[in-house]
Amino acid sequence: MEEILSIITKNENETMLVGEKLAKTVGKGVVFTLVGDLGAGKTHFVKGFVKGLGSDELVTSPTFTLLNVYEKGKVPVYHFDMYRLEDISEAQELGFEEYFDLKSLNGIVLVEWPQKVDGLIKCPHIQINITNIDSNTRKIVIASEGGNV
Ligand code: ADP
Ligand code: MG
Repeated sequence: MEEILSIITKNENETMLVGEKLAKTVGKGVVFTLVGDLGAGKTHFVKGFVKGLGSDELVTSPTFTLLNVYEKGKVPVYHFDMYRLEDISEAQELGFEEYFDLKSLNGIVLVEWPQKVDGLIKCPHIQINITNIDSNTRKIVIASEGGNV
């Protein structure tokens, strides 16, 4: 893993802005993992990201559905949240691995709680790691994982 950038945010809007700006720099065929405790700000990062692609869709946590798709922006966004996954086979049944063939991927994938599907994300990807510093301060570390991205 190679660190690209580390940023401190002071409120949820700043975290959303990081996602929004990053979204403007990427196109289809890119995978992001979002690592951080409950309430770290992973979903807020995705909210900003979807906005940055030019969509006004409401981003919510896909905790009970595993996958939300946002299609109104420049490219489709596949937003997974693996928090409630009981077993890795559930993800396999959902066709989760098909999203990680970067050549055929027609959008951008963002995965909250990638630890729950350890080993299934084999392609190069960008890890967004969010750490709580205090109630409103977060440290966001952006790193490349598994080859050149
Ligand atoms: P996660 O998806 O990681 O569980 P959410 O994005 O759903 O987290 O929630 C993050 C919570 O933390 C929200 O209630 C948000 O208002 C709050 N928060 C406070 N400071 C920040 C910050 N700097 N960045 C992101 N969220 C923040
Ligand atoms: Mg979340």
